[in-house]
Amino acid sequence: MADCLFCKIAAKQIPASIVHEDADLVAFKDIAPQAPVHVLIVPRVHIESLNALDECHGALMGRIIVVAAKLARDLGLAEGGYRLVTNCGPDAGQTVFHLHTHLLGGTPLSGRMG
Ligand code: AMP
Ligand code: ZN
Repeated sequence: MADCLFCKIAAKQIPASIVHEDADLVAFKDIAPQAPVHVLIVPRVHIESLNALDECHGALMGRIIVVAAKLARDLGLAEGGYRLVTNCGPDAGQTVFHLHTHLLGGTPLSGRMG
């Protein structure tokens, strides 16, 4: 989608520190990390948020989790643990309206949820 930050990062029109890419997904370091490891996993296809999902997205969403878990292992987070977060809409504080999952770890994370 024109004028979408994460579409542009996926298309390499805007630079990012990419840690994984494949036919479906791109993962890159968050520009304002909230933990020692803070990676965003995004689908190449533009999906605005979890609100836009339907049955056809099941495999893609599964891949996001599988790739996040592989990255967590590769980045040394498996033993200590980590958190995956996907914010949806204003109450959750979503600021970029291209679906993405945060991978956070490398330190004890505050609170139980967000
Ligand atoms: P959310 O608040 O869940 O929508 O998350 C959006 C995330 O995108 C935030 O953690 C931002 O720090 C991050 N972000 C914004 N712009 C960039 C960028 N150019 N490169 C990498 N991460 C970004
Ligand atoms: Zn997009």
